[in-house]
This record gives sequence, structure tokens and C-alpha cells, in this order.
Amino acid sequence: MDLLYKSTRSENETVTASQAILKGLASDGGLFVPTSIPKFGATIEELSKMSYQEVAYTVMKEFLTDFTEEELKKCITSAYDSKFDTEEIAPLVKANGAYYLELFHGATIAFKDMALSILPYLMTTSAKKNNVKNDIVILTATSGDTGKAALAGFADVPGTRIVVFYPKGGVSPIQEKQMVTQKGDNTFVVGIKGNFDQAQSGVKSIFGDKELAKEMDEAGFQFSSANSINIGRLVPQIVYYVYAYAKLYANGEITDGEKINVVVPTGNFGNILAAYYAKNMGLPINKLICASNDNKVLYDFFTTGTYDKNRDFILTMSPSMDILISSNLERLIYRISGADSAKNKEYMTKLVTEGKYDITDEMKSQLTDFYGNYSTEAETKEIIKKIYDETGYIIDTHTAVAADVYEKYRKDTNDTTKSVIASTASPFKFTRSVMTSIDDKYDSMEDFELVDELSKIGNVKVPNAIEEIRNAKVLHDTVCEVDEMKNVVKKFLGM
Ligand SMILES: *Cc1c(COP(=O)(O)O)cnc(C)c1O
Repeated sequence: MDLLYKSTRSENETVTASQAILKGLASDGGLFVPTSIPKFGATIEELSKMSYQEVAYTVMKEFLTDFTEEELKKCITSAYDSKFDTEEIAPLVKANGAYYLELFHGATIAFKDMALSILPYLMTTSAKKNNVKNDIVILTATSGDTGKAALAGFADVPGTRIVVFYPKGGVSPIQEKQMVTQKGDNTFVVGIKGNFDQAQSGVKSIFGDKELAKEMDEAGFQFSSANSINIGRLVPQIVYYVYAYAKLYANGEITDGEKINVVVPTGNFGNILAAYYAKNMGLPINKLICASNDNKVLYDFFTTGTYDKNRDFILTMSPSMDILISSNLERLIYRISGADSAKNKEYMTKLVTEGKYDITDEMKSQLTDFYGNYSTEAETKEIIKKIYDETGYIIDTHTAVAADVYEKYRKDTNDTTKSVIASTASPFKFTRSVMTSIDDKYDSMEDFELVDELSKIGNVKVPNAIEEIRNAKVLHDTVCEVDEMKNVVKKFLGM
């Protein structure tokens, strides 16, 4: 039977997978969730013999049930090809007592590529299936990595336009350079005078603007979202947890059914939610370890049951996790409320009006799958240096937050379960923070000198994504106020 999707905030909208991908967000502002979480159609033994692409098909077909085998396989092979600089797509590296699942071998060297290299194919296939005639306009707010990955995915894809908003001054120099040098006639990159949460709220309000939607339709456009709330991003992210488990089994590191922990550096709660879905599909996962930086709103939530965004927004050296409203948490809240959309809606309304909500003890008791902790800036620097000094392996600042929280977890619990750390970005993306963590002396070097130095001391080749921007021309220089975002979009579309 076909799996359908419904909103987390009401009971009256049920859509197919392809419709959910096209819409991004439900009409009532809720997120689409599957009406049930499917189980795997394969054993670990079978999965362990599969390529990344085959695992992807096995997992994704359970969720995207209105795609034909041919359609889905075409999306998968188009996405996971030589854009990735390793055949394994997501290799596992053993270091410092854990397994680092390197999710940064795609076009923009951050884990967002894992989903955003397939989303354009899922989206255009969905448009065809639903007889959509309008051009799809992808509207995205980014804390740095989503933007570039979405631009790379959608650039020059026929029938699509993409507009990316990023917080001016809130992303790393390399991240900004990657975005503002993006080629493609259908791409548009805008810096906003505000932080990521403001960019995200601005995008949400444009999505919710019914009058604008009507004007757009008349002009032959309709919006969709590439943000991590889209189930077309969530589902491809489940794949690599299954793949990692199967690889550990294939390599003789674990036995069939042995539980593993998963450690995820978290911002919008998309990546860790995918791991939670994998667990619910039957993957033997013990703890889901949620790692935050100084913006530790999720740590506080897991320890107290109160989600409270009323606090200072802190710019850290892991900017892709500088988030106070973790959008995807709504899917977890919905689930632990017993799929009670009215109750979930109450919480989400409270989050808007009061900036906080408290879950019940009964809901809190369902969070035992999770462990939350955080890493301060000083601790993040320290762990980068420690792992480099002891093993020679260089991790990026986001992965370092996870590595540090994993050490805290081990100390707190004495749990020796084998653990996979989601390694979400290449250190080359956050070169300055990474290199100055290793040694203060690097602070005086230029950005691209640091790139070459990192390559030398880490004994890793400079990724293509970095070589490409070394001398690239800036093609986007629009900067706007938060309240100008809507007009900027209209102008770009010639409306
Ligand atoms: C986006 C991002 C994260 C956070 O992932 P979420 O799915 O938003 O929780 C962590 N690290 C890097 C490098 C990222 O780009």
C-alpha cells in the first residue's frame, strides 16, 4: 500500500510523497510526516553487499512510494555519481575511538550535498508526475552550507529558479565565496542584514503569503523549499546511517544486530531526525547523541523538557549550527505527542507567541533514545587539536562539536557501545578556525595560504570545490534588509 504524508499541525491534508516534495511545507504551516514509518525490505546481510546507490534505493523506495522503480533509480544514479570524489560516497574513517562517517565528499564539501544532490531530481520528477506547468522557484534560507549545496544542485536545472538568502557576516569566508561565485542563469544569492533565524522566518513568511502565491501562479511560477524541512531532504539522509551500519558489519567491526550509537552535530535537527527515522525503521541504534555548540537550545530541551529560544544568538566557529529554532524538532514533538496534531500545533503556536514551550512528563519519558550535550568554543578548539596531535586526522569545527560531546557522553555514562560520528563538513570549508585551533601561528596567514597549509599538515588533497573558488569572480553582490526579502524575490523573477 502507498505510504502517504500528512501535516504535523492538522488532520485534513493527506498527500503523496511527490506532492509533499513539491510543496515543501503543508498549507497549515506544519511539516509533512509519513503516516507510518516503514520497515526495511532487506536484511543487514543483504544491505552489507550493496553499493551506496543500492542501499539508497532500498531505503528510499519505502518512503517515496509513488515513484516508479525506474524514476527513483534514475534520480539516485544521477545524484550519486562522479560529483562525489570517492566511490564509496560516504566513507567511514576510524579515529580516536570512533567511526567518522565522512559526509562531505560531494560538490560543496558539506553533508548537505548528501540530500541536495538528489533533491533537484526528486523535485523535477515530482513536478512531471503531478503535471506541474509552472517553473519551480526554490527559496532557501541558509546558515552557510545549505545555500551552496542547493545552488550547486539546482544551477541550470530546466524549469527551476533558485533564490538563496544568507546572513551577511554570519557565514565563513569560504562559505560566502562559494555562494557569491555561483554560476547559472537561474541562480540568485542575497545577503541579508540579520541572522539565520531571521532569514528563515523571512522565507517562511514569503511561503505563507497567499496573495503572492496567486501573483506567482499568474506569472508562471510556484515556490518550493530546499530547506531541511522538505521530506525530499530528510529521506535521502536516512540512507547513510543504514549504509554506515551495513559497512561496519561488512568490515567485521560489529555483529548483525549489535547496537551502535550515532553522534550528530545538530542545528536544524534534520540530520539527527534522519537517524531517529532509521532507528524506527529497525536499524539497531542505541543512543542518538545530539551535539550542540554554544547555541545549546537542544541540550536544554533534552535535559529540562523546555524548549526556549529566548536567549542571545551566539556566532560560533560552527556557523551551520548557529540556530535557535530547530525546525525539524517539530516532527519529533509531533511523534512523542502521540501523533496529536492539535497538541503539536499548540506548542508551535507558543513557540511563535512566547518563544518557548514545555512538553509533558509523558512526552519527556519518550526521549530516552536521545542524549544531549554541548561543546563550548574553547572545547571545540581543544578537541580539534587533540585529535590532530594524537592521530593526524583533521576534523572540521562542526564535527569537532560532535567529537567533544561524544567524549562527554563516554565520561558521563561509561557506555562503550561502538559509535558513528556524523562528520558533516570538510575541514577545508572552515580552514581558519580549524588551523588556528591547531596552532595560533596560523592566524596571520591568508585564507588560501591556510588551505595549502592544511593540505600539507593533514596530508589530504585540496578538494575541487576549494580549487574552483580560488580565483573565481564574484557574481552576486545583492544585500538587503530582512523586510525587503519579498521584493527582492519578485524583482529577480521579473514580477
Ligand atoms: C547543516 C549542518 C549541520 C546541522 O545539520 P542539521 O540537519 O541542521 O541539524 C551540521 N554541520 C554542518 C557542516 C552543516 O552544514
